[in-house]
Amino acid sequence: MSVKLGKLIYTGKAKDVYETDNPQQVIVKFRDDITAGDGAKKDNLQLKGYYNSIISSKLFEVVEAAGVKTQYIELLEPGNMLSHKLDMIPLEVIVRNIAAGSLVRRFPFEEGQTFEQPLIQMDYKSDEYKDPMLNDDIAIALGIATAEELQEIREISIQINRALIDFLESKGIMLPDFKIEFGYDSEKNIVLGDEISPDTCRYWDMETKDVLDKDLFRKGESGVVDAYQKVASMILEEEDKEKWGID
Ligand code: UDP
Repeated sequence: MSVKLGKLIYTGKAKDVYETDNPQQVIVKFRDDITAGDGAKKDNLQLKGYYNSIISSKLFEVVEAAGVKTQYIELLEPGNMLSHKLDMIPLEVIVRNIAAGSLVRRFPFEEGQTFEQPLIQMDYKSDEYKDPMLNDDIAIALGIATAEELQEIREISIQINRALIDFLESKGIMLPDFKIEFGYDSEKNIVLGDEISPDTCRYWDMETKDVLDKDLFRKGESGVVDAYQKVASMILEEEDKEKWGID
């Protein structure tokens, strides 16, 4: 790896962020730790970070190709992603195409119900307050973003959703929902950060309807990393699969 890991500047539930020699760039390190239910359920699954970094890199490339600015620069090696340094906005933007998870627990939607238009939900990213759902007035009053920025985030999220659906469906994967996070780059552009992986998305096999994401862990099922490997195998080009040793 030509870029050196510098000082650890942030540690989250599944990733760490390190400085590099370039003040505008960081290395995002994907760990094998996995949590659910606000950290109530925890484990360490060997190679989970390996696959998540590879899947995220591929999907960042897909959304970049659709004209969305992302933090992604390069996968230095599996686990370590060279990224633009962002000043993160404390929002969890959830895009929903099919009803699942907390939405069907909290509202009278039917599991598996397809939405005509994607639903955009914004939660306040705060462990202390347990990530409550926001509306625009609350987000603006908290100083999280302006009305214009919230509108921009919404539009970019819809663009990301379209690009991901088109790509993943061409690879045999349905995308019921996903969570993304944004930050500002050094020029104050709103840029996609964080990750796009089976930890943060729901992926269903279009043919078998098998779950290929963190819901397996949430439900205490086995084969979590095997499912993540399957996603990598379904979405990568042969050349990348050979490079990273994926069947
Ligand atoms: N999600 C996430 N982090 C969170 C909450 C949700 O990445 O802290 C993702 C989750 O993996 C799913 C989508 O956002 O793809 C919607 O999650 P939901 O609100 O249904 O919550 P959950 O089922 O995880 O309780």
